[in-house]
Amino acid sequence: MVMKNKKIKIAVTGGKGGTGKSTVATSLAVEFARKSKTMLVDADVECPNDHLLLSSKRKKYSNVYQPIPKWDFNKCTKCGKCASICKQNAIVFVKNKFPAFIKDVCIGCKACMVACPVNAISMTKKEIGKIYTGRNYDVNLVIGELKLGELASGEIVSSVREKSEEIDKKLKSEIMLIDSAAGIGCPVIASLVGTDYIVAVTEPTPSALHDLKRVLYLANHFKIKSGIVINKFDLEKKFCLKIENFAKKNKLPIIGRIPYKKDFVDSTIKMKPVVEINPEYRKVFEEIIFQINKKVENGSSKTS
Ligand code: SF4
Ligand code: SF4
Repeated sequence: MVMKNKKIKIAVTGGKGGTGKSTVATSLAVEFARKSKTMLVDADVECPNDHLLLSSKRKKYSNVYQPIPKWDFNKCTKCGKCASICKQNAIVFVKNKFPAFIKDVCIGCKACMVACPVNAISMTKKEIGKIYTGRNYDVNLVIGELKLGELASGEIVSSVREKSEEIDKKLKSEIMLIDSAAGIGCPVIASLVGTDYIVAVTEPTPSALHDLKRVLYLANHFKIKSGIVINKFDLEKKFCLKIENFAKKNKLPIIGRIPYKKDFVDSTIKMKPVVEINPEYRKVFEEIIFQINKKVENGSSKTS
C-alpha cells in the first residue's frame, strides 16, 4: 500500500482540542506498522500522551535548549534600549538602574543583543524541554516535551522534528506520522511544514467545524494535500451533514468516519490503541490508510 522508496510524512491535526487527534494518530500508527516501518512523532509538546496511549516506556534522547541573553554590567550604560525593543517584556528597565531580566518569558529572539549599542549583551542558553524515544506495537516513538512554564513550544516542535529525522537515519521509516498540538499557531505550523498529507480530525460540533476551517486554510496556504476524519460522527448526525456539505463544497475528501463508542473510553483507560481493544475498528483505520495512500499517490485537495 505504501509508495516504494519514499518516506511519507503525515500530520494529524484538526484545530480544536479534544477531537481525538491522539487516538486517531496512535491507532493509525499501529495499523500502518502492521505493513510498513512506522515512526510516530508526538509534537503535542505541551501535553504529549501518545506514549501513554501506546503503553510505551520513554527513554531520554536529548535536552532542548533555547538561547537567552546575559548582561555584562561593566559595559552597560543603562540606556534602556534592550528593554524598549523586547516585545516579550522580558526586560524591565528603571532609569539609572541596570536592566532586570525575566528569564521565563524570554523567547530567545536576540533582538536585545542586536539593539545594545555597547555590546553589553551576549547569548547563553536555558533548557526548555526534552526529547524522548519509545517503542511499542512496532511503532517507533519520538516525543517532544516542553518544560513546565516555558513558552517556546514552536521551537521545541522544530527540535523534535529535527531529532526525529536524525533518529530515522538508522530506522529508515516508510511512514512518519506527526501528531500535532491543537490550534493554528507556531507549534502547529512547525508540525505541518514538510509533510505530504494532513489528516484533519474533527467532530460534529460548531466549534470543531470552525477550527477545522482554520486548519484547512493553513493546509491550503502551505499547499499540502489534506483529508477530513470525522470522529464521533454518529453523535450528532445533522451536524455531521454540515461538515460533509462543507467538504463537498470545498472539494475536500472525507477519508474516515469514526463512531462514538465506549471502546474509545476503554482505550484511554487501559492505555491500549482502540484497534487492539476491539479489532473491528481495524477496518475503519485501514480505510483511512487506503484513502491517504490514494491521495498521496494521485490527486491534490485544497480548500477555498
Ligand atoms: S532575546 Fe528577545 S525575548 Fe529574550 S530578552 Fe532579548 S529581546 Fe526579549
Ligand atoms: S541596551 Fe545595552 S547598554 Fe543599554 S541598558 Fe541594555 S544592556 Fe545596558
